Amino acid sequence: MSVAPPTGGVLVDRYGRVARDLRVSLTDKCNLRCTYCMPAEGLPWLGGPQLLTDDEVIRLIRVAVRQLGVTEVRFTGGEPLIRPGLVGIVAAVAALDPRPRLSVTTNGIGLERMAPALRAAGLDRVNVSLDTLHRERFARLTRRDRLPDVLAGLAGAATAGLTPVKVNSVLMRGVNDDEAPALLRFALDHGYELRFIEQMPLDAQHGWDRASMVTAAEILTALRTAYALSPDPTERGAAPAETWLVDGGPARVGVIGTVTRPFCGDCDRTRLTADGQIRNCLFATEESDLRGALRAGADDAELARRWRAATWGKRAGHGIDDPTFLQPARPMSAIGG
Ligand code: SAM
Ligand code: SF4
Repeated sequence: MSVAPPTGGVLVDRYGRVARDLRVSLTDKCNLRCTYCMPAEGLPWLGGPQLLTDDEVIRLIRVAVRQLGVTEVRFTGGEPLIRPGLVGIVAAVAALDPRPRLSVTTNGIGLERMAPALRAAGLDRVNVSLDTLHRERFARLTRRDRLPDVLAGLAGAATAGLTPVKVNSVLMRGVNDDEAPALLRFALDHGYELRFIEQMPLDAQHGWDRASMVTAAEILTALRTAYALSPDPTERGAAPAETWLVDGGPARVGVIGTVTRPFCGDCDRTRLTADGQIRNCLFATEESDLRGALRAGADDAELARRWRAATWGKRAGHGIDDPTFLQPARPMSAIGG
């Protein structure tokens, strides 16, 4: 392996990993305040001029797809459905050649209304975050009484053909850690694919605590009280979720054990924040500014060169268990989860 970033081609790092999956944060704002993500009062949001415009977002995605080999684009945030230009951005990216696969990670609020337009614009699928099926718990956990909107959003996504509809759940000890089997029952009944995500040290309040985190092993034990789980024979590839067949299949359930079962060696992700910074890892403490270059008149080749250089410096792993681990300065909602 050479010591300098490649001058052309795909996004490769010095360990040989190739980033084909781009996560684009479209806003750092949100209409919920999940306790593991944001403080009740919200955060100092990015100001208007700091945000990439729709055209700037589309241009950077075009560079990623046409020059850097990106094949998957996921829109996230903050809450991506509150970005006014979302449908237009999806349509522009779906028109690229080669066409990347397109998805959104959302809290589901407003999805019932927007799903048909997003599907028509070219969106392929959605991940909807849902941590509890109890309305009061939901209101406490997200600090907003919006569970019915999320359930309607899930149903609307399925009706619009945004399949598979995936559900992301984070379990917290003493809050919703008794709900693993019930969440799986709900997903099976509706034909959604459920994945549990271990809580990560990415909250703005720095309240994460290793000892109280519900681990992947605990989640599996809880699920096995109600279901038989067997190894999923399908190839995992770069997918972060380890999956299991439920009661012999074909239904599956996934667990993303970022902390206790890290998958950094197979990571194929690169991230673009709403203010135009490249992050080569969710846990990176450094970013590379593409917005400044873009607004200073850089051409596509120069933007691609900077993106390659940013990728080259990706660390081997997130190092959460290392005593020197530093939580990134930006919280998950500003990075794009
Ligand atoms: N607002 C959208 C949503 O909630 O799906 C998209 C952004 S959100 C940051 C993306 C995902 O990150 C959600 O599934 C959420 O549950 C998850 N998330 C947020 N903070 C987290 C944390 N500290 N640990 C693990 N997952 C987290
Ligand atoms: Fe908003 Fe998503 Fe964070 Fe919840 S997890 S506060 S929905 S950005």
